[in-house]
Amino acid sequence: MKAIRTFTVRTVLPDELAPLGRLAANLRWAWHAPTRDVFAAIDPDIWDAVGHDPSRMLGEVTSERLAELAADPTFREWLDRAAADLDDYLHGPRWYQQFPEGARDDTTNPALPSAIAYFSAEYGLTEALPQYSGGLGILAGDHLKSASDLGVPLIGVGLLYRHGYFSQTLSPEGWQLEHYPEIDPRGLPMTQLRDGTDEPVRIALTLPGAVPLTAHVWVVRVGRIPLLLLDACHQENAPELRGVTDRLYGGGSEHRLRQELLLGVGGVRAVRAYCELTDHPEPEVFHMNEGHAGFLGLERVREYMKRGLGFDQALEATRAGTVFTTHTPVPAGIDRFPRELVERHFTRDPVVAGLPTDRVLGLGSEDYPEGDPSVFNMAVMGMRLAQRVNGVSSLHGAVSRGMFQGLWPGFDTSVVPISSVTNGVHARTWVAEEAQDLAQRIVPDSAEFTRPEGWRKITGASDTELWEMRRTLRGRLIVDARARLRESWRQRGASEAELGWVDDVLDPDVLTVGFARRVPSYKRLTLMLRDRARLKAMLTDPERPLQIVIAGKAHPADEGGKRLIQEIVRFTDDPEVRHRIVFLPDYDMALARSLVQGCDVWLNNPLRPLEACGTSGMKSALNGGLNLSVRDGWWAEWFDGSNGWAIPTAESVSDSDRRDELEAAALYDLFEEQVIPQFYDQDDDGLPKRWLEMVKHTLVSLGPKVLATRMVRDYVTGLYHSAAQSSRLLARDGMAGACALASWKQRVRAAWPEVRVQHVEVGGVEAAPQVGAELEVRATVALGSLDPDEVRVQAAIGRVSPTEELLDPELIDLSATGAAGEDGTLVRYAGSIPLERAGACGYTVRVLPTHPLLANPAEMGLVTLPAPPIGMGDGVVLR
Ligand SMILES: *Cc1c(COP(=O)(O)O)cnc(C)c1O
Repeated sequence: MKAIRTFTVRTVLPDELAPLGRLAANLRWAWHAPTRDVFAAIDPDIWDAVGHDPSRMLGEVTSERLAELAADPTFREWLDRAAADLDDYLHGPRWYQQFPEGARDDTTNPALPSAIAYFSAEYGLTEALPQYSGGLGILAGDHLKSASDLGVPLIGVGLLYRHGYFSQTLSPEGWQLEHYPEIDPRGLPMTQLRDGTDEPVRIALTLPGAVPLTAHVWVVRVGRIPLLLLDACHQENAPELRGVTDRLYGGGSEHRLRQELLLGVGGVRAVRAYCELTDHPEPEVFHMNEGHAGFLGLERVREYMKRGLGFDQALEATRAGTVFTTHTPVPAGIDRFPRELVERHFTRDPVVAGLPTDRVLGLGSEDYPEGDPSVFNMAVMGMRLAQRVNGVSSLHGAVSRGMFQGLWPGFDTSVVPISSVTNGVHARTWVAEEAQDLAQRIVPDSAEFTRPEGWRKITGASDTELWEMRRTLRGRLIVDARARLRESWRQRGASEAELGWVDDVLDPDVLTVGFARRVPSYKRLTLMLRDRARLKAMLTDPERPLQIVIAGKAHPADEGGKRLIQEIVRFTDDPEVRHRIVFLPDYDMALARSLVQGCDVWLNNPLRPLEACGTSGMKSALNGGLNLSVRDGWWAEWFDGSNGWAIPTAESVSDSDRRDELEAAALYDLFEEQVIPQFYDQDDDGLPKRWLEMVKHTLVSLGPKVLATRMVRDYVTGLYHSAAQSSRLLARDGMAGACALASWKQRVRAAWPEVRVQHVEVGGVEAAPQVGAELEVRATVALGSLDPDEVRVQAAIGRVSPTEELLDPELIDLSATGAAGEDGTLVRYAGSIPLERAGACGYTVRVLPTHPLLANPAEMGLVTLPAPPIGMGDGVVLR
């Protein structure tokens, strides 16, 4: 690390220009072009030199220029209008404000939560704040921005990494090099949270050995949303602790654990301090964006215990108001710590005081058949601390249900209580201004874009204007790519004289394909190199060539990923193809914008089903790019056969090398037979009619779905609202709900071994039944010490999978028809199921605990089936 420390001298703005300070201090400029135009007008050259960052702009502009602007009535009027527009945006009613407000202690109150705290280890808001590594962070950034647009009262919580993630350059040999420039928060659009006496607010934690760790809090204004970032880099911490918030995803286990303790535990304390100092309503819902934030639940348990609850009661209260989102189906992507390391932090001098150590360890333990007893799993803890859990696409929800089935033993995969909310992207961040302008010309009222009908109007764009827009964006990408490539070659040691060829790299009239993402192995950066001769032939075709722009960072500890980058870079270095394929270093939000806006085709070829969602393809689609992707993540859900192309997968092939070969061949075929011919099928005016039809269909079919505002609305109506309701129910009468639920669960758990399905019989299927007939089911169930209204007895019917699970079963509640024995613990149940589908099916009966405060019938992981289970053998065949 260099010995140079940086600091920032703040500009003093003349009074007339004070609104400039306010505009720069709120990140809304990052997605509001009219605000950026104001800054650009101050001095276009400086604006370009500072990378379009208003804070840096104000640091660079001369006081003479400021005085000039202060005396310019036209500029001042413009500035005042921009400031008034910001005020409107910040304080006017938006989508969320249409719903009724109500008192929080009223349990019949249907109101949405008064506030939601959203925790994430990373945030991608703008390239000026390099606090993200990839999709997870970008998603969190887009979540905050869309929440702001919708008026959702969210508080974001994260860490301030002094060295961010890393910036990437290449060595002469094409090897990734990492750089960690230090940021100075005083030069960034954030302010320090201070108390009534103007002292920095200190968030304190205790580490083993009674070592204090404190953090300062920075507040970033993301439109209407405050984002609190905890920062350990200050004088009061022992020198070795100042580095706790040094880098995103750097360091070993202990370092990561400290970061996550600060994020989760410190984060809740920061939220409390913020709400108290600013009179912000306290959050009713806490959202863990991935397992890194899981410790927030323990701090909330402590808070409830401090109010007099026992651990189990506090756990119920916490769970009711917690949402956990899992983001990866890759086991290596799940955060796990050595169990004894966590134990050390929760035993003597615990980080969170007063919690029973064994219970804390139990929350993160993999105590299911394939689990590893030596680890503490943050995702598992998240799921146990949250009553509501979701994945990030429909396919990922299904994969997660299989992956975490062990937490709900006895339940078929399909009923594991993990739902899904498919990710989305923030349009104003990612869509080119030209595309936004075109959309506005055709559909002047942007509110229409919340509805499919609004998007359908896009077909009213003429082919000429649409193609003009696409050509403009492609051309701009090429200018940007050449500049970046030149810079990269200079860093790799080339002299200017050797770089003349760079001026002719990429062609504005050639079909342009983009591939940019992090470089974990499942994303298969180098799949396109599988048959180099075939790729080369496409790149150098004299009539209908292809050109490819590639970017991506490998995690600094991932040597394998760096080798993949080197392999690609070496290929692009070849003078025979280097004018048609380029690798651009330092993939960040600015480069991502340039790529998703300029590329005609967005390529994605992960190993299905390891891409949880993927969002870069959504950004491309909104700019009129076409997706060419494996049907994984969001594309598995929304590819409709004509809004892009699906690369066929060979999932059933277990040899991974062979699978790559098959999938790569399918990819080349698609390019040669469909993508390339269609792009170059241009009419006399140079318009590729069929291509443009597909672009329009992409916008119409995907536009309404891929927006992050759709996603945030889904979270609000599907998860935040019900979590707030549950939370209120548990809090009523001095937490009586939580106490009742905890003791009920305890009693049911203890009594459950006595519950048995004694006997099942069916009627109505003697002769081969026909569709439309009814299956009459009668069961006798032993309830032990439980009451009939504490259980639910259901009949399930459906097709039977090869693993003897009922697929997507039809469930019917059976009704109690009376006692079967003397002592009243044997109860008869009966009901009938209409037989709706022809073919072989199976049925069974199951008994579950039921309580009005459970969010899902599978929540407790308790279920009793007949022994032996009724499976295929006892099934009926419908004709
Ligand atoms: C959108 C984006 C991502 C996520 O893209 P995926 O398709 O999920 O891989 C990663 N990094 C940057 C800089 C992005 O803009």
